This record gives sequence, C-alpha cells and structure tokens, in this order.
Amino acid sequence: MSQPVIITVAITGALPKKKDNPAVPVTPAEQVESTHEAFEAGASLVHIHVRNPDESPGSDPELFGRVQEGVRKHCPGMIVQFSTGGRGRDQKQRGVMLQLKPDMASLATGSVNFPTQIYENPPDFVEALARTMLEHDIKPEIEVFDLAMLYNAANLVKKGLLKDPPHVQFVMGVPNAMPARRTIFDFLRSELKAILPKATWVAAGVGRSQWEVNQWCLEAGGHCRTGLEDNLKVTPDRLAASNAELVKKVADACEKFERTVATPAQARQILGLRAAA
Ligand code: MG
Repeated sequence: MSQPVIITVAITGALPKKKDNPAVPVTPAEQVESTHEAFEAGASLVHIHVRNPDESPGSDPELFGRVQEGVRKHCPGMIVQFSTGGRGRDQKQRGVMLQLKPDMASLATGSVNFPTQIYENPPDFVEALARTMLEHDIKPEIEVFDLAMLYNAANLVKKGLLKDPPHVQFVMGVPNAMPARRTIFDFLRSELKAILPKATWVAAGVGRSQWEVNQWCLEAGGHCRTGLEDNLKVTPDRLAASNAELVKKVADACEKFERTVATPAQARQILGLRAAA
C-alpha cells in the first residue's frame, strides 16, 4: 500500500463569493467552523486566504492570526498553510502575515496569466518570500501554475533558498494557465522525479476538473487538494454543501485506490514538519 494521502482543504480562496455558494466561509469564525468540519471529514492541511468585510481578498495579519488560533485550538495537529497569493493584494502585503509563523505558506515560483489578470511573481519577489519563509521555519508549498515554475523551484533549492525535499503543488485547470490534461499531469510528475527526486507532491484541479484530478492523484500516489476555493460544486449539477462534503468525497474514494487518509501526525511526518505544539 502506498503512502497515506494528505488531504488539503482550500476553504475560501480569493474569488468565490457567498452569492455563488453560501457555504463559502468568509469571516474568521466561519472559516474556523468550516475547517473544523473538514478536519473531521479527513483534511489534515488547511490552505487559508482571508477576506475583508466586503468579501474582497484580505491581507490583515490579524485576520490570519484569528483563523490560525481557531484552527490550532479546534483541529489538533492540523497543518496551517497561509496563502501568499496575489489577487487584489499589494505585493508588499503578500508576506506580512508570515511573521505569525504558520506551518506552511504557498509560494508561486513564477508569473502566469490568470482569467482576467497577470499573477505577477518577479524573481526578486519570489526569492524574498522564500528567504522570509526560511527565516521563520515555514515550509513553502511550491505552486506550479506553469511549467517553468517547476525548474525555478529546483533553482531555489540549488541557491539554498528552499530546503530539500520541497513540497510541490501542480495547479491545473486555471483558464489561461495549464489545462487539466492527463498527459501534462504525467509529464509534470516525471520531470519532478528527475529534478527533485525526493519531493512530495499534490495536484489541484480547478472548477469541473477538481474531482478528476483528485482521482489521478489517488491513483498515482500523490496527495489531494479540494475545497471551495477551487470549485463550488460536489457534482456537476449540485453546489457543495460545505468544504467537508468535498473532503469526504476524496476520503471515501481512498479505499478504491488502496490509499488511506493521513492523520495530522502522519501528514507532518510526510512533509518533514515539526510535531504540533
Ligand atoms: Mg489559494
């Protein structure tokens, strides 16, 4: 049997609004509650964006701090990962909450087009974020939205800005970036194996490709990411009732692929993170 599956729940994201699915958690209290339900359903890692009161993407470290505190209190051992993503956020604001020392933070290692804008990550900015994460002992999750980002990650390892083995996420299905095609998924994995052989990996499928990519990951021995940030529906014609419902769908499928759901302690061990305080 292969390695237990770390299920990541991306609870909120930058874009989904309550009018699109009322289950999208927006306030810190809603985010903690939604994370707790997802934790009970099998998620061992939570990916966190915060929102301003008008639901626009937030940067306020106080909001991040409240969510982290609630997750640590109600979801023992769960891995906390902050997003350093850019939508609607000033570049200078994107790393300020790293002073709160979450277990992990996302790190996109290059620029790419998103549906209506450029996701801008110039080389010096990427290196500065990597350095801050290193200083605070935060493990990055390398977000690969396009092929070059994979080789950029390997270069960060060479420069000593990223510890080996890194954890890499392939993001597929974002309009204007990489489509969710099995041939690309297989190529990305074989390249990762060639250049960063000890790396752990997860893939995210956005929108309608979420479930398909989840199943590819279960089959290929990787980890899984789900949640309302990436996709609002549990089936093509029904909105998900909660983040937990999406997590449960992945957890329930594990048996078919001869996988087990990682506990938070197993997830920490797989990713080389310190045990929970
Ligand atoms: Mg995100």
